[in-house]
Amino acid sequence: MKTIGMLGGMSWESTASYYKAINEGVNNELGGLNSAKICLYNVNFDEIEKLQHQGKWSETAKILSNAAKSVEAGGADFLIICTNTMHKVAPEIQAEISIPILHIADATATKLVTDGITKVGLLGTRFTMEQDFYKNRLVDNFSIDVLVPIREDQTIIHDIIYNELCKGVINNDSREQYLRIVSDLYTQGAEAVILGCTEIALLINQKDTNVPLYDTTEIHAAQAVKLAMIDDI
Ligand code: GLU
Repeated sequence: MKTIGMLGGMSWESTASYYKAINEGVNNELGGLNSAKICLYNVNFDEIEKLQHQGKWSETAKILSNAAKSVEAGGADFLIICTNTMHKVAPEIQAEISIPILHIADATATKLVTDGITKVGLLGTRFTMEQDFYKNRLVDNFSIDVLVPIREDQTIIHDIIYNELCKGVINNDSREQYLRIVSDLYTQGAEAVILGCTEIALLINQKDTNVPLYDTTEIHAAQAVKLAMIDDI
């Protein structure tokens, strides 16, 4: 079994979901007392979040690249970055390490393509919904059309992520808002909705709606387990 490198802490609430899903995934594959080989570097999200909102992305890249180097030195065979947003600096991180990064958007898009989805709604932080680093990867590499919520709804989604979900706060009104926005995206033609922030599944899941949801945490963790089982990467 390969050792999975994890850049976590963004936020730790969702890293806990990854940790559980990966260990359960390995145990489902191998049974008995088998658990995942993991090398995890958990950053202090307060530092990252401040730099994000100041637009100091190159500084976040430095912090995460140094963390990734530690993960590589710790024996990881490949790396997962446990947040959608920070894939904005994935190219800078990849340039500093020699192990491959399993990109969260590629893992998600691969599943969408397998399921025949060609037009998808995207929920995430404002950075993920507004900027091109994530959406363009889906459009250019996988020919998937991406719809994002209107600006006011992006603000609602973004604020709930940072003010509630990253602190482990689960609020029923926020759940209703998210479900209303999911439903609006469906009405606009999205065949499915990507939960493109690793905390969103703490708030809503497939039981809450008939619109197909693609939880990036679950998909990314499952792909990491699959890759860990392969001899050659
Ligand atoms: N975990 C979130 C994501 O998947 C947001 C926190 C962050 O900015 O990294 O985008």
